[in-house]
Amino acid sequence: MDQHRHKGQRGKLIRTLIQKGIRDEEVLKAIYQVPRHLFMDSSFEDFAYQDKAFPIAADQTISQPYTVAFQTALLQLSKGLKVLEIGTGSGYQAAVLCELGVKLYTIERQKELFTQTRSLMSKLRYNLRMKFGDGFAGMPTFAPFDRIIVTCGAPDIPLELLKQLKKGGRMVIPVGNDTQQMKLVKKDEAGEVSVENHGDFRFVPMLPNRSS
Ligand code: SAH
Repeated sequence: MDQHRHKGQRGKLIRTLIQKGIRDEEVLKAIYQVPRHLFMDSSFEDFAYQDKAFPIAADQTISQPYTVAFQTALLQLSKGLKVLEIGTGSGYQAAVLCELGVKLYTIERQKELFTQTRSLMSKLRYNLRMKFGDGFAGMPTFAPFDRIIVTCGAPDIPLELLKQLKKGGRMVIPVGNDTQQMKLVKKDEAGEVSVENHGDFRFVPMLPNRSS
């Protein structure tokens, strides 16, 4: 349940994010709406609105709110855009994207997380398309996407994902092994690709397909 005290804690979290440099009002509003404590184990409930990553099932983590805000702001979203997320995990980042009114597609390679998060998203009435599979392959059936967001540390920018990015589109992806650099990849109307660097972050690794 989302209670009054949770809203109060989220208000505090929003002030922390503003202090850390997040300025995008729509992104802050979306984060204010999402009951993050429901996306983690109930034993962490008291810490849910600290600006920290926490462990979830299958040795994965729920991203830090600052990271979610930072990546989401870089995407420059507007309602109705078609967005692909790689690494559904807890579903928290996905919920923030849904609050922004985009058409969301998301992929997770851990069955346990996929199943758990699918039931949570439907319980919370978030409307999105979830796939159990390999993020490196994207979702060719639904491509191209206006935006792509990768929430695990990728070894490089996967070509297949670049292919599935629409002209005029943006992809936000952390690239690197131990630590990652947040890359903003832009594809212009002529199909030319440029890459900007937006600082260092730490993610769990993007891993190859389990069956391969
Ligand atoms: N967006 C998530 C972050 C979870 S951590 C959240 O808000 O909670 C990153 C997730 O990426 C993990 O759940 C991990 O299992 C998943 N992942 C790693 N490699 C992947 C791949 N190749 N395809 C799809 N998901 C992957």
